[in-house]
Amino acid sequence: MTKPIGSEIFAGHFKGRRALVTGGGSGIGLGIAQAFAEAGASVLIVDRDPKVADSAENLRQAGFEVEHAVADVTKEDEVKAAFARVVELWGALDILVNNAGIITIANLEELSLEEFNRVLAVNTTAVFLCCREAAPLLRASENGVILNASSGQGRQGFIFTPHYAASKFGVIGLSQSLAKELAPSGIRVNSYCPGIVKTEMWEYNDREWGSRLGNYKPGELIQEWINGIPLKRPAEAADVANLLLFLASDAGSYITGQAINIDGGMFMN
Ligand code: NAD
Repeated sequence: MTKPIGSEIFAGHFKGRRALVTGGGSGIGLGIAQAFAEAGASVLIVDRDPKVADSAENLRQAGFEVEHAVADVTKEDEVKAAFARVVELWGALDILVNNAGIITIANLEELSLEEFNRVLAVNTTAVFLCCREAAPLLRASENGVILNASSGQGRQGFIFTPHYAASKFGVIGLSQSLAKELAPSGIRVNSYCPGIVKTEMWEYNDREWGSRLGNYKPGELIQEWINGIPLKRPAEAADVANLLLFLASDAGSYITGQAINIDGGMFMN
């Protein structure tokens, strides 16, 4: 995994701060967890995949203070248990990163209500559940920050993903509303909008969109879309992590209620 330069810039800045990252067992979330740990934070990685234990162990072996909890963030009781672990570990929380997310690609008439609701449940409703559990713990912090994963699809819907686009637009509205409610408690709430990040999610996208949009061979569609990015490369998890370090740091202390693109210029709104 590429080393997030942000964790060098912010080395030690997060010492004594406590961060929870959902969906942190792999992909972008693991990059975010690593970056905060490298910048001095204590990190609890929450993921529904039991392999999160290995991810946390690897980071501990590298000398960082990282714990894990297995939880499905769509399940209220599992979310409550994960935050009970925060209380047990630290008594308060400084940074919540709602990174967990899923996507499916489907033509409208093949998209079942169950699939629509499943995507909304992980990408939007779970953000609400985690924010609600985190609120009292963030109020006990002097630097409370919530960072919510939206997407380029929180800016513009793509074809065959009405449920995903709805879920990611939803994250931006939810974040703006909470930014207003929690500002008096000194808690900042922002969302971030990655473009193309090379993770397992994108391998699925390349295959499923590719087969619906034309006769693409593996890797061809993603390359075509990357060619359209002004900076001409996909993001690494570290690129996203760098933004989050800045937003969570004291350097970002006047930023709240924003949705920030991290996409090489793919969207400019
Ligand atoms: P990924 O599929 O590679 O990893 C997602 C992680 O979240 C996995 O570890 C998975 O186990 C976990 N997860 C999924 N559902 C969960 C649940 N219900 N409870 C707990 N954990 C759960 O995805 P990624 O590419 O790393 O994406 C991370 C976030 O960034 C998502 O919210 C995604 O929508 C968003 N995003 C990704 C891209 C991209 O190009 N990869 C672009 C824009 C936005």
